[in-house]
Amino acid sequence: MKRENGIKKLTDVSCWDVVVIGGGATGLGVALDAVTRGFSTLLLEATDFAKGTSSRSTKLVHGGVRYLAQGDVALVREALRERGRLAKNAPHLFKTQSFIIPGEKWWTAPYYTFGLWLYDRLSGKLSIGHTHHLGKNEAKNRLSGVKDEKLNAGVCYYDGQFDDTRLAITLAQSITDNGGTALNYFAVTGLEKDDKGQVCGVCATDKLTGETFNIKAKAVVNATGVFANEIIAMDEPHAKPRIVPAQGIHLVLDKEFLPGDDALMVPKTSDGRVLFAVPWHNKLVVGTTDTLVEKAEYEPKPIEKEIQFILDTAKDYLKKAPTRADVRSVFAGLRPLAAPKDEGKSTKEVSRSHKVEVTGSKLVHIFGGKWTTYRQMAEDTVNAAIDAGLLPQKPCQTVDLRLHGYTTADTYLDETPLTFYGADAKQITALADSDEALAKPIHENFPYVYAQIQWAIDHEMAYTLEDVLARRMRLLFLDAKAAGEAAQSVAEFMALRLNWDTERTTQEVADFKVLVKQYTL
Ligand SMILES: Cc1cc2nc3c(=O)[nH]c(=O)nc-3n(C[C@H](O)[C@H](O)[C@H](O)COP(=O)(O)OP(=O)(O)OC[C@H]3O[C@@H](n4cnc5c(N)ncnc54)[C@H](O)[C@@H]3O)c2cc1C
Repeated sequence: MKRENGIKKLTDVSCWDVVVIGGGATGLGVALDAVTRGFSTLLLEATDFAKGTSSRSTKLVHGGVRYLAQGDVALVREALRERGRLAKNAPHLFKTQSFIIPGEKWWTAPYYTFGLWLYDRLSGKLSIGHTHHLGKNEAKNRLSGVKDEKLNAGVCYYDGQFDDTRLAITLAQSITDNGGTALNYFAVTGLEKDDKGQVCGVCATDKLTGETFNIKAKAVVNATGVFANEIIAMDEPHAKPRIVPAQGIHLVLDKEFLPGDDALMVPKTSDGRVLFAVPWHNKLVVGTTDTLVEKAEYEPKPIEKEIQFILDTAKDYLKKAPTRADVRSVFAGLRPLAAPKDEGKSTKEVSRSHKVEVTGSKLVHIFGGKWTTYRQMAEDTVNAAIDAGLLPQKPCQTVDLRLHGYTTADTYLDETPLTFYGADAKQITALADSDEALAKPIHENFPYVYAQIQWAIDHEMAYTLEDVLARRMRLLFLDAKAAGEAAQSVAEFMALRLNWDTERTTQEVADFKVLVKQYTL
């Protein structure tokens, strides 16, 4: 992952087989699928990898219990299959997480046990643990943070959990490992068309230098999530918006609000959604909401009523009611939903399955989907480009493809702060061992060390303070105040490595502090 190598290829390759616009879960998946089939592949991301929705998920690799309740069995089966594949192909990034649904009334536990037994059966050979009923005492012991009156019984089931931005970086590295090129801070500003009006490339700007490029390609894929309407408009200036953003927020609390290893799943909140409280990096992530918003933004703002809704639901279940002062971080993300044809339909009823389209001008769009199904989405997208005659027939290779950093399957049992780097962890440890300054933690309450920043700069295309503190490490998402406290010294460390002058360093810290404010209640 060296930017200079990628940029050199831009001038060396006269026509790429595939150019992917967008470096979130969807685009990274498509680029990895294309390059491993043997297509020359370039991915362009306008900001940082996973800066959009892909860093703001609930961090679940799941079939979606809610979709089963809605009868979308095909979507659940597909997602459970993909969950099992990710567990095998990237064990360093996949954690099996137990979830407990509290059985408040006498009938709720048997009802959910049956539903989750079915959920489990749908995963077939790729099951990651069996659903079982919990008696009152066991439910109370395991969910000691939940009010007794909610726990007449319980149901325990299993799903996957991950770190979304670490998987995104791993995918970018896997693209490079397989001979592809992935560049962040590279925005597509227009589409090139041939004399038949068919898309044959893109115009792009290197946002770090301002240099512009005209890039030729046989297939151009729009994988820009909630920003897809902008690319659609480059193709058809008068097209109606196809994507509506639906916002979901999460609050991050200290783990003491739900001690133990189990996650809490509330199957029906007052707004009819599910709510999760999931242990993550020694904190508790609680969410989410579903609110239609007007426009797609890179830093969507949590709405007061969403914050209140999560606090109220948490208060209803948890013995220790969290208040605003307990919130370590609040983050919002936007689901790229297909605009509902029926105006009265609420966003939670719109299917989360993905949709691939090839337009008359041969632009390939991939809309919607989930992090969990990124691999299948990618396979379907590249197949569609082949079926449209843009690329020659070549079979998909990603079903069993081990991702960058793959190590043995039980890595996660011994979780350490470096687990998510997989095989690369050894090199980061060696860096820390070689220099006392690199072994120092960046904040006294967190295990992140300076060696990880050095690694992020050298091997993970990190260029800004935010890249490091929000996505290569997750401090902004785990504790915004702590991230603000670490900002100055981390910026000074980066300044030495990246040759920032005082003005740039001051600006990086100032920009980051604006974010810290937004992630703090
Ligand atoms: C609140 C919430 C919770 C969720 N939880 C889960 C979960 O637990 N599990 C799960 O499986 N899924 C979950 N999802 C869904 C999942 O996060 C998304 O489906 C996925 O991240 C979307 O990825 P994407 O690549 O399509 O979009 P994005 O991540 O937004 O990526 C699109 C990228 O395109 C780039 N881009 C835009 N315009 C241009 C341009 N002109 N040139 C170059 N690049 C451009 C953007 O910068 C952006 O990085 C959740 C979603 C939300 C909102």
